[in-house]
Amino acid sequence: MSKLLAIGTVAFDKIETPFGQTDKILGGAGTYIGLSASTLGIKTAIVSVVGEDFPKKYFDIFHNNNINTEGIEVVKGGKTFYWSGRYHNDMNSRDTLITDLNVLEHFNPIIPDSFKDADIVMLGNLHPLTQLSTLKQLEHKPKLVVLDTMNYWMDTALDDLHKVLKHIDVITINDEEARQLSGEYSIVKAAKKIYEMGVKYVIIKKGEHGALLFNDNNIFFAPALPLEDVFDPTGAGDTFAGGFCGFLASTGNISFENMKNAIIYGSCLASFCVEKFGTQRMENLNKEEISKRLKAFRDLTQYDFTI
Ligand code: AMP
Repeated sequence: MSKLLAIGTVAFDKIETPFGQTDKILGGAGTYIGLSASTLGIKTAIVSVVGEDFPKKYFDIFHNNNINTEGIEVVKGGKTFYWSGRYHNDMNSRDTLITDLNVLEHFNPIIPDSFKDADIVMLGNLHPLTQLSTLKQLEHKPKLVVLDTMNYWMDTALDDLHKVLKHIDVITINDEEARQLSGEYSIVKAAKKIYEMGVKYVIIKKGEHGALLFNDNNIFFAPALPLEDVFDPTGAGDTFAGGFCGFLASTGNISFENMKNAIIYGSCLASFCVEKFGTQRMENLNKEEISKRLKAFRDLTQYDFTI
C-alpha cells in the first residue's frame, strides 16, 4: 500500500466568520492534509508537534481515520500552536487575529522509521528549513514531493525557501503568493519563473475560482464546485493539497494526465471542508458522498464541443 507522509501544523484554531464563531477547535495544515488524504485508504502519517494541552479526543479523530501519529511529538508542559482568524463578508479574505507559535517555535520534525520510505511527501506550510529537514531524513527520494508555502516565508526566509524549492516537484500556492514569489503579475509568466527556481509543476489556487496546474507548456484548469453554503474556508487549501497527494499516492501514477484527476479529487474534498466549521465535515466523510460529488464535478465541466 502506498505511503503518504505529511508535515504541517496540528493546532488549536479559533475562527470567526459572518455566520458565527468557534471556541478553540482542532485545526492546522497537517490536520487538514492528513484527514483529506486518509479518505483514499492509503497509509497516511502526520509529522508535527503539540503541547500537553492537546486532548486525547483529537488524537482519536486521527486514529479513527487510520492516520499514523507516531510523528506527532507531544512536548511536556508545552502549549499547542494557536491561530485565530476572522473572515470578511466575502469569505475569501481574512485577518489573522492571533498566532501563538508555542511549541512550534522549537519544532524539530522527526520522521517515524516506518515512513522514511514514503512514496509521496507533502510539506505543509512551515519554515522552509523545517521542510528541508524532513526531506533530509528520508531513505530515498520519494516519487513526488509537494510543497505549500505562504507570503510570510517569502517575507522572512526567502533564501531558505529558494533552497527547499530546488528539492521539490510540485508547489501549491495562491495567486497572490505566486505573484510575490515570481515578481510577475501574469500567472502564466509567474509559473514559468517558478519553473526556473527548480519546480516542475506549479499549482495556483484561486479559492472559490478553482485551481490551475502548470507543467512546461501544459495548463489545466479545474473550477471549484459552486456551493450553496460556505461556512468556513479554513483549511480548504490544505484539504485540496491532501486530496491531490492522496490521489496520486493511491493510484501510483504521477503523470500530468493523472494530476488532472488528482486536482479534481482535491477540489472535491475542499468543497466538503468549507461546509462546516473547522474539521467537522472532514472527520466522517464516506466514500458514497465523495463519489456523488465527484460526479457533480464531472457534470459541471463536461461538454460536447465540436471544433
Ligand atoms: P489555510 O486556510 O489553508 O490557510 O490553513 C489554515 C490552517 O493553517 C489553520 O488551521 C491554522 O492552524 C494553520 N496556520 C495558520 N497560520 C499558520 C502559520 N503561520 N504556519 C502554519 N500553519 C498556520
